[in-house]
Amino acid sequence: MSKKQFKAESKRLLDLMINSIYTNKEIFLRELISNASDAIDKRYYRSLTDENISFNREDFYIRISADKENRTLTITDTGIGMTEEELENNLGTIAKSGSFAFKNEMETKEGVDIIGQFGVGFYSAFMVSDSIIVKSRALDSNEAYKWESKGVEGYEIETCDKDEVGTEIVLKIKENTEDENYDEFLEEYNIQSLVKKYSDFIKYPIKMMVKKS
Ligand code: ADP
Ligand code: MG
Repeated sequence: MSKKQFKAESKRLLDLMINSIYTNKEIFLRELISNASDAIDKRYYRSLTDENISFNREDFYIRISADKENRTLTITDTGIGMTEEELENNLGTIAKSGSFAFKNEMETKEGVDIIGQFGVGFYSAFMVSDSIIVKSRALDSNEAYKWESKGVEGYEIETCDKDEVGTEIVLKIKENTEDENYDEFLEEYNIQSLVKKYSDFIKYPIKMMVKKS
C-alpha cells in the first residue's frame, strides 16, 4: 500500500480548509449529510431501473455517532457506496464538484466570507479533523475499501471489512485550541442543532448515537 498524492488543485483547497481562514467550520456536517443523502438517492434510482434491486425507504438512513473518549465523529449511510476507483477519483479530485467553483472564487477574493454560497464538499471535513477514514462498499460489490488521509500529505487506499453496502466516514476531531472549540462537534445537543439548522430538509431519517466518555 503506497501513499498517493492529491492533485495540485485539490491540495490548494485542502490547504485552505486545514489552515481554515473560514470561521463557519460547522458546515462540514451539512456537506457530509448531503453526500450521504445523494448516495441513498443514487441507490434508489438504481432500484428503479434494475429489478434485482429492491428499495424500502425504511431501510435507508444516515447515522451520526460521536465517541467523546476517542474524539471520533462517524457519519454512516446505506447509500450506493464507492468502489476502489470511485474512492480514488471522487475523493482525490475536486474538479467535478461544487468545490471547484468555490476554490476559484476563493482565489480571487482571498479571505472573503463566501463559503456559505457554495457546496464546499467533502474536504470541508478537514476543517475540524486531524484525519479522515472513509470505508465504503459499493452496491454490486463483495469487497470494501478504506480511504485514509491526514490532509495535504496524501491518502492511502486498502481493502477492509464492511458487511453493509454504503459508506462510513470517521472523523478524528481536532483538539481544542486557544481560539477554537472543536469539542462541540462531539456534543449530542450541538450536533442535533446543527442537523436541524442545516439538514432539516433531508428526506431520509438521521439517527443519532452518542457514547459518553
Ligand atoms: P459533490 O457532492 O459536489 O460532488 P463532494 O466533495 O461533496 O462534491 O463529494 C465528491 C464526490 O464523492 C461525490 O460527488 C460522490 O461521488 C462521492 N461521495 C462523497 N461522499 C459519498 C458518500 N457518502 N457515498 C457515496 N459517494 C460519496
Ligand atoms: Mg457534496
